[in-house]
Amino acid sequence: MECLKSYNPATGDEVGEVPVTAVSDIPAHVARARAAQPAWEALGLQGRADVLRKAIPIFADRAEQHGKLITAEMGKPIKEGIGEAKSLAGDLTDELDEMVEALTPEVVEDKRARSTIYHDALGVVGAITPWNFPMSMPSWMLVPSLAAGNTVVFKPSEETPLCGQAYADVLNEVLPDDVLIVVHGADDQGKAIVKSDVDMIAFTGSREAGKHIMREASGSLKRLVLELGGKDPMIVLEDADLEKAAKFAAVNSFRNAGQVCVSTERIFVLESVADQFEKALAGIAGAMKVGNGADGPDVGPMVSPRQRDHVLAQVDAAVASGAKVVAGGSGHHDNFVTPTVLVGVTDDMDIASAETFGPVACVTRVSSVDEAVERANHTRFGLGAVVFGGDEQKTDAVARRLTAGMIGVNRPINGAAGTPWVGARESGFGFHKSKDGHRQFTQTRVVTRSR
Ligand code: NAD
Repeated sequence: MECLKSYNPATGDEVGEVPVTAVSDIPAHVARARAAQPAWEALGLQGRADVLRKAIPIFADRAEQHGKLITAEMGKPIKEGIGEAKSLAGDLTDELDEMVEALTPEVVEDKRARSTIYHDALGVVGAITPWNFPMSMPSWMLVPSLAAGNTVVFKPSEETPLCGQAYADVLNEVLPDDVLIVVHGADDQGKAIVKSDVDMIAFTGSREAGKHIMREASGSLKRLVLELGGKDPMIVLEDADLEKAAKFAAVNSFRNAGQVCVSTERIFVLESVADQFEKALAGIAGAMKVGNGADGPDVGPMVSPRQRDHVLAQVDAAVASGAKVVAGGSGHHDNFVTPTVLVGVTDDMDIASAETFGPVACVTRVSSVDEAVERANHTRFGLGAVVFGGDEQKTDAVARRLTAGMIGVNRPINGAAGTPWVGARESGFGFHKSKDGHRQFTQTRVVTRSR
């Protein structure tokens, strides 16, 4: 049997292996999931939520073990690995009630008619996930899919199959047989799921793969939720708290070695405060410790040599075109990339438009707020954006001119509990979280009788 081996990107050591699912077997897995679906749906909304709730203490008990596996398999610092693992129990606790509320039938009446809006299961969901949050990304799509009464065929990233399997193992301890089926492999297995008889594809990953999936799914008009890449801008206004802005820029450019879909990838700073901002950012970047995630550094390795090569090629090309390195830029070794700050980044450079997904902060000086907004919006992506400023009204006004789906004002983009995780433009199609997000895993039906 062919196996997929998983390696620690910090050490090169083998972490483990999983059997690869033969592409030719995928239709049979989907058929098993379809056969299991009616009985799972028949448990009812509360019944399914009660089953899923049983996973909460298991996730809580295994948080440390899961956190260590995340760090071993994809490299993030252990504190972040354990933080991600702990969020699994927390998310389930917080969101199952919200899901039940979102999916409970709703009665709407007027003078003539009384309608009931139902949110029914779609059938079988094909769930395909990336490696950068190898347990929370599966959680974001598997839990709402299952709560809605769907069964799921799940393919974790080929970079983090052990995390995907460990996550699914917990759910499978509480779920009936075949309600959640894991398949392993890379693009070919993902493509086979998309081609198969599933009713919906829930996908988080790159824009290119998302576009491919959308084309393939059009044949049978499969339902889609696509959470794709980003090229998030940050605007620093003249009256911003520059220390706070620089600290945010460093954290959000270098967290998880920049391998975050809502990383700050482009920074537009007003000319008059640029010297001070760049100096502060370079100072923080220069003090960051890089190393094996297990040893608790600020920044771990890139997930793979391929990702490292992509990042370093973008940095080298930018420098060759005139960008200046004011922090990092050297000392890279193995899969480790030193946190790097580039200034003088211009729109013609690849690093200004294509997703980097690495620990690089790119700073561009602008002469007006209008220029900052125009350049921040000059992208086909639209996931997150951030603006730092002093005057509340003016800063809010800039936030409202940004075309991203999630905008943070003097803070990260994450919204209050119950708000959606939503990308605009080519960063996504459909969205996660919030009552509206949960309903995307369902077929809405309206039954009406006369009054
Ligand atoms: P990727 O697109 O290479 O792979 C993602 C998953 O899709 C993997 O499981 C892969 O095997 C599979 N796949 C690849 N091509 C496929 C195809 N044509 N059909 C079906 N399946 C296919 O992405 P990645 O490198 O694993 O993840 C990084 C990307 O994910 C970045 O672009 C990042 O911005 C994005 N991301 C987005 C969000 C969000 O919420 N918007 C969150 C996390 C990551």
